[in-house]
Amino acid sequence: MPIYEYECKDCQYTFEQLVFQNDCSPVCCPRCHSDKVSRLMSASSVFSSSSLGRCAAPAGGGFS
Ligand SMILES: [Zn+2]
Repeated sequence: MPIYEYECKDCQYTFEQLVFQNDCSPVCCPRCHSDKVSRLMSASSVFSSSSLGRCAAPAGGGFS
């Protein structure tokens, strides 16, 4: 389950939110309960995608 980082556009509060694959409910700011939030690129998502690529490299045939 990925944890995304969000920033509230109303109060500039940043927070992390666990996002479920099937959950389509909008994310709200925990401080002011605004739904004007935007998702940030979090370090955890970068890490998971890079480790995924490293895992897939040998199985995919590797270098040309
Ligand atoms: Zn807010």
